[in-house]
Amino acid sequence: MLRRHISLSLILTLLLSIFSLSINQTYAQQVTIISDSVIVRDAPNIGGKVLTEIEKGNTFELIDQQNDWSKIKLNNGTSGWIASWLLETIDNTASANQNNVEKDTELVIEKEKEKVSTSEYVISTVDNLRVRNGPGLDYESLGYMDKNKNYTKVSEQGDWTKIQYNDTTGWAASRYLTASNNNNPQSESVEEPEEKTVTVIVPILNIRQSANTTSDIVGQLKEGEIVQVIQQTDEWLQVKTENKTGWVAAEFTTEKQTAPIEIEQKWVTVNVDSLNIRKQPSTTSEIVGKVTINDILAVNEKQDEWYELVGDQKGWINASFVSETNEQTALSTEKKQVVTATILNVRKEPSLDSPIIGKFIESEQVSVLVEQDKWSKVKTENGTGWVYNEYLVDLSSIEPIEAETITILNEGTNLRSEPSLTGKIVGNASKGTTYQAIKHDRDWYEIKITNGKKAYVASWIVATNLKPKNDQSNPLNGKVIVIDPGHGGDDSGTTGFTGTEEKDLTLKTALALAEKLKQSNAQVILTRKDDRKLTLKYRVSISHHYEADAFVSLHYDSVRDTSVNGVGSFYYNKQKDYPLASAIHKQLITQTKRKDRTAKFGDLHVVRENYQPAALIELGFLSNANEEALVNTSQYQEQAVQAIYDGLVDYFKHS
Ligand SMILES: [Zn+2]
Repeated sequence: MLRRHISLSLILTLLLSIFSLSINQTYAQQVTIISDSVIVRDAPNIGGKVLTEIEKGNTFELIDQQNDWSKIKLNNGTSGWIASWLLETIDNTASANQNNVEKDTELVIEKEKEKVSTSEYVISTVDNLRVRNGPGLDYESLGYMDKNKNYTKVSEQGDWTKIQYNDTTGWAASRYLTASNNNNPQSESVEEPEEKTVTVIVPILNIRQSANTTSDIVGQLKEGEIVQVIQQTDEWLQVKTENKTGWVAAEFTTEKQTAPIEIEQKWVTVNVDSLNIRKQPSTTSEIVGKVTINDILAVNEKQDEWYELVGDQKGWINASFVSETNEQTALSTEKKQVVTATILNVRKEPSLDSPIIGKFIESEQVSVLVEQDKWSKVKTENGTGWVYNEYLVDLSSIEPIEAETITILNEGTNLRSEPSLTGKIVGNASKGTTYQAIKHDRDWYEIKITNGKKAYVASWIVATNLKPKNDQSNPLNGKVIVIDPGHGGDDSGTTGFTGTEEKDLTLKTALALAEKLKQSNAQVILTRKDDRKLTLKYRVSISHHYEADAFVSLHYDSVRDTSVNGVGSFYYNKQKDYPLASAIHKQLITQTKRKDRTAKFGDLHVVRENYQPAALIELGFLSNANEEALVNTSQYQEQAVQAIYDGLVDYFKHS
């Protein structure tokens, strides 16, 4: 079918070119614009420069044709190219001046037209299939196909089919169309698309009334939610939830049927002295365990007066003897610990030989169920696993109600004599050590160390039991900042002189920066929080999705010449990106005192394709042994994070 139409259009094109060559002097063919507003370009492709726009219904002289493009003579005497599917050739059969060539040509065209019109009807296999004014997703929408109606097929191009639509023609995606018998449309068996579900992969995903980002938001989905897909375009999915339907951006979903990333967990408290756990939801079923009064249990949704337990202990409990508890109460009674390793593997069994079944990242809180030697059994997204507990710090045991406490997250964190990065280093703290905070401002905690002396520690490298202050005067308050740690997964970026991997260092810097920004009430989004590979397109999508006020991509550099060193920043758009890149860069040079490689233009995907203000920062050369050693120090990491933070403050102060 496709081949026939290609040959048909080839014949037509050939005939038309012979025709226009031979009779150019005596006869000029007229064409009419059939789409609302059509762009005229200086070349026969969509990369051509835009010359002007012309309105529907206007008629022009056809000068030339190339592939799917037609050259027309404009009213001001110049010429330009428009896409052929946006125009219609005027029927000249009424003309008295036709010569034989014309007549023959017309005859062939008429015959071909006839052939098409008698042979081909199509029907949509999905509800509300969109019709556009050209063969691609970029073309304007004309409306939707009625699933119960036959449409005359005009032609095909690539994956698109041109159909008669209302009083004009339009294009629909061929894969949702099926051939139809016009005489008996009801008898045609229409194949329903396979039922499909997707899982949401971003924290919040808006459901919109129609398939574009300016359309009204009718609801929201959470990360891990699974929804049914009714139909789809390349970029949008129409989804159905319990009580509504709407459109979501396809790129923030995955078709993989993975377990939800975040389960909205239900909790119950036991109200009786002793309650049996049964194998099945029935009072006659085997007893497999017992729980006692005030126990708090994670359960699934209630089913016929029974709750199924979630996690370690399998079984069912009778709903009459428990009451639902909110998550806050439930979690506060669990033993919560904080992860101190950048990445902490979760294993199936308490052994390094056991398979890795998940990961936690630095600063993440985990619920510990059991401890066994050097291993802790912890709750995971979909069950339990074991982690090496050297990398866990107990927070609940050091949480006096009144006192503000801080816990050191990184081994060898500097303690200083002054609340400043220039303050003298008076000691080093081991990770996991907890101190009582005497005072704190936005950036520094004053703590009491063992010899009774005071010291200061930077606030963004510690875990704390305090909530961030809501400081309206801080320019970062409420700002949406996307931090993009470069590379990840099997893309490790550059590898340093002594083996530092760029992907690990960018993540380390990003996590600390995020922590610091959060403490100023910025809304921080990390494109990745662990060692995983992301596409550049996805990174930019995150920026668009959250409508970032600033997007900062973090990298470390490398060149063949191992003497090269310094810090450089990149922008793409002078107006949109330069103020951000230069504000951060200025602070970086002042505070790290590295060689100034300037804030300069760079044709880099994550900045170039970003609609939001974006900057890409190269925080030093791993190919230079000295700089590699330096950027790995906690001193440099602190300085870099402080500088980027200050740069963002400067930027928002003036923007
Ligand atoms: Zn990089």
